[in-house]
Amino acid sequence: MSATVPTIPDVTASFQRIIFIPFDHLNVDRGALKDANPKTDLVLFVQSKRMCAGRTWHPEKLFFLISSARHFAALLEERGFTVWFLEAENTPEGIAEAQAHWGVLPIVCAEPSSRRQSAQLAELGVQFVANDFFVTPRELFHTWAKSQQTFVMENFYRAQRVRLNILVTDGAPEEGRWNFDADNRLPPPKEYTWPERLEHHRDETDNDVAATLGYRPTTTWATTREGALRQLQHFLDYHLEGFGPLEDAVTLDEWSLHHSLLSPYLNNGLITADEVVAAAVEKYQAGEAPLQSVEAFVRQIIGWREYINGMYWFLGSDYRELNGLDAKRPLLPLFGDSSTTKMNCVKQVVSHVEKRAWTHHIPRLMILSNLALITGTHPQQFLDWMRERFIDATEWVMVPNIIGMGVHADGGRLMTKPYAAGGAYINRMTQFCKGCQYDPKKRVGDDACPFTTLYWDFLDRHKDEFVKNHRMARQVHGLDRLTDLPELRVRAKEVLAGLDEGRI
Ligand SMILES: Cc1cc2nc3c(=O)[nH]c(=O)nc-3n(C[C@H](O)[C@H](O)[C@H](O)COP(=O)(O)OP(=O)(O)OC[C@H]3O[C@@H](n4cnc5c(N)ncnc54)[C@H](O)[C@@H]3O)c2cc1C
Ligand code: SF4
Repeated sequence: MSATVPTIPDVTASFQRIIFIPFDHLNVDRGALKDANPKTDLVLFVQSKRMCAGRTWHPEKLFFLISSARHFAALLEERGFTVWFLEAENTPEGIAEAQAHWGVLPIVCAEPSSRRQSAQLAELGVQFVANDFFVTPRELFHTWAKSQQTFVMENFYRAQRVRLNILVTDGAPEEGRWNFDADNRLPPPKEYTWPERLEHHRDETDNDVAATLGYRPTTTWATTREGALRQLQHFLDYHLEGFGPLEDAVTLDEWSLHHSLLSPYLNNGLITADEVVAAAVEKYQAGEAPLQSVEAFVRQIIGWREYINGMYWFLGSDYRELNGLDAKRPLLPLFGDSSTTKMNCVKQVVSHVEKRAWTHHIPRLMILSNLALITGTHPQQFLDWMRERFIDATEWVMVPNIIGMGVHADGGRLMTKPYAAGGAYINRMTQFCKGCQYDPKKRVGDDACPFTTLYWDFLDRHKDEFVKNHRMARQVHGLDRLTDLPELRVRAKEVLAGLDEGRI
């Protein structure tokens, strides 16, 4: 097989099994490949035409997923495997085609990372081996979640630290502290020199995939394990030290700050959570990175990432469709085109997503999800948009992050209170407001910040349910102090109409 032109492998060997590799299981030491034998196992990849054409995927994302899979298929060939990289209408048709050619052999795959793919493959009789792309087995998480009344991530994270023996001694946290969150909320720094970003240069396979897609990719994302490891090393050398204190900041001069840019590779298997965490902890142990930052990074991986995956499986298949706040607004035009908004924060963040299919977690939460939440945007339309536009978005990670954390459509099952914020908070944590025609301090008037107006309007619209929530009651009672509530309601209607029409 050439890495870029799929053909039927020219071999007469008779195989005993077909190993099916989804595009997010790209690791020779994990899943079904861990015990595979090049002499008796045929490796099958199916590039589904439906996957490519069915939705408005960001081309950077399609490029990344396909090119990574093609590079990985070529690597397996180098290791002596017979690989069939098949383009088919969809996965079932691809598998049927493989069986027509090679005979009805047992098909083996690691447990898929999404419910839909699990159901689809199970129906085709695919045998699953455990999904070891996470450090927490699904049953273990299930047992933890069943024992909890509320699913507080911090409790899970501390148990993970002890279970995995990471930054703990005799059950006690390193330096006596489980977390440094309180110290890790610095606003954007002034006159700060950011390290250079790592560029990933394109090879022949990349260029072929890009040409097929008719797209010129950025140099932001690697498509091989070597590239992913270079990214990890770059993060360890230049960013880990500053990661913690500035992890919540958003600046105008640097879009990735000290974030690792590792999520796409963690999610498609090119690198794994345990190796990334071990590398960061090693930096701390060698005295080359402060605990404040190493703990913050470790928390993201063994805490948040594992928690989100565990909750995806724990919360059940109906969770994706929840709409607890009865939000019905169609997706705003600004999500599809950053030029249709005058709000500087939204324009900048959406244009980052347009350019490279990524922005860090605070813009995802504080700008994009917050806007969807306070405008009452339909949660599943927003979820689909995020799923299509982000390089690292897959079902397991997007569903709890959006439905639970982002837009509170789950009635508080994941997070006890909605993450709603007005312009004053955005002004404190970002540098966007200075260049904006709106005023973050104002809630009424033509130049009022839409976030500020809609934040209060959102509380007002939902005050009856939120006042019963002890974590929200203080915010809701803030409404009583607003002397301009009638004008604010009028302004909110104007803002919502303007957003719907792409005028605000
Ligand atoms: C509304 C919303 C949507 C998100 N959607 C996704 C998504 O589709 N895919 C995705 O991988 N992450 C998602 N995240 C989490 C987070 O924003 C990204 O993982 C992060 O921005 C990726 O960049 P990074 O690798 O530089 O992360 P860093 O800031 O360097 O963090 C290190 C790693 O921690 C993990 N992590 C941190 N927070 C989370 C989290 N909440 N859920 C899962 N993993 C986490 C990621 O693997 C990330 O690579 C979302 C967060 C929010 C608030
Ligand atoms: S003033 Fe409001 S809309 Fe403008 S950048 Fe600030 S928060 Fe965003």
